[in-house]
Amino acid sequence: MLNFEYKNPTKIIFGKGQIEKVASEIPTDAKVLMLYGGGSIKKNGIYNQVINALSKHEVLEFGGIEANPKYHTLLKALEVIKSENITFLLAVGGGSVIDGTKFLSSAALYEGANPWDILKKSIRTEVGMPFGTVLTLPATGSEMNSGAVISNEETKEKLGMGGPGLFPQFSVLDPQVIASIPKRQIVNGITDAFTHVLEQYITYPAGAHLQDRIAEGILQTLVETAPKIIKDTTDYEAASNFMWCCTMALNGLIQKGVPTDWATHGIGHELTAAYEIDHARTLAIIGPNLYRFKLEQKKEKLAQYGERVWGITSGNTIEKAEQAIEKTVEFFHDMEISTQLSDYTKDYKGFAQLIKSRFEERGWGALGERKDITPSDVEKIIEMSY
Ligand code: NAP
Ligand code: FE
Repeated sequence: MLNFEYKNPTKIIFGKGQIEKVASEIPTDAKVLMLYGGGSIKKNGIYNQVINALSKHEVLEFGGIEANPKYHTLLKALEVIKSENITFLLAVGGGSVIDGTKFLSSAALYEGANPWDILKKSIRTEVGMPFGTVLTLPATGSEMNSGAVISNEETKEKLGMGGPGLFPQFSVLDPQVIASIPKRQIVNGITDAFTHVLEQYITYPAGAHLQDRIAEGILQTLVETAPKIIKDTTDYEAASNFMWCCTMALNGLIQKGVPTDWATHGIGHELTAAYEIDHARTLAIIGPNLYRFKLEQKKEKLAQYGERVWGITSGNTIEKAEQAIEKTVEFFHDMEISTQLSDYTKDYKGFAQLIKSRFEERGWGALGERKDITPSDVEKIIEMSY
């Protein structure tokens, strides 16, 4: 096992009817800005639950944060935070609203002239404006981690940011919110969380047996839960397991003491920035091809994954690894998630080369757990997905 330090300060409040507890988590003298997306919370009643709970607080609101939160929209919220002397942020939404709120938490206290530098120059956020979340869509794990991804529609970039100051103070996880989520977003959530686990697990054996078993437990639970939650979003047992799997997949726990390979997310973000493909679907396009491309380097963990998660018993290590990749593709296809870029856009000529040069410009020359995925490899992996 590799050396590690682990601290996760986010308080999780999980279960039925827990949204009203936001009131006791936010200081009564705080001036709160409640942030949300395109309006789903007004249709499914979550907006009213939060507003009613905060009846004794001073609350302003900012709606309209898009999926894949956009920098220029967030700048408008930043103006409100500054002009209204906001002291506490409350994100009510999925990964996009939570990530947008994390950017605002950082930007609100940032002293530089251009907040985009936080992303462009990878400035870590040591202290941010305090914020909490009410999660409405299980997928990203953003509710219990300190990372965020923000899109800039002008430069067609989608970049990550983070730092110890960006953990939510609390996150309320009520699995009943899942009832109103459309199928497209349910399967996206399963795919995103599944890939998060794979990226912290399909590397090389590091002798971290417990981390492996936890990762495999999350993967197996997602495989078992997927058909149930797709069939019936009001199935509370399925909903609660789906929700907790997504949080556990990316709250930092399973990545401690093991190598990680975030190349699938790094490349996937480019597909969203260029073509607005849903985040999770970009992972389904890239992940299996990355594993095919790095089969030799990742074969032990791929075979272990095949044996333990998919019950593969026949073949040698390479054959088991290959079958494991095909099982993963089948899993995505069973959820009607296509794994080919050409199913989402016909406009991909030259895209792989463009991303190669972009990664070179950014100095992203050594991705993967062994730092051996070069920009030329990225080009080839993208071409495999055409
Ligand atoms: P999302 O973009 O937050 O939401 C997708 C859609 O689902 C929105 O249109 C939203 O509608 C709708 N929705 C949310 N909750 C709903 C509910 N309860 N009922 C009905 N509709 C609902 O999706 P996401 O997958 O959670 O977030 C994706 C973003 O997170 C991407 O930008 C991705 O890059 C990022 N991400 C972050 C991390 C991280 O660790 N920070 C990890 C992976 C991905 P409304 O807008 O109308 O509410
Ligand atoms: Fe993700």
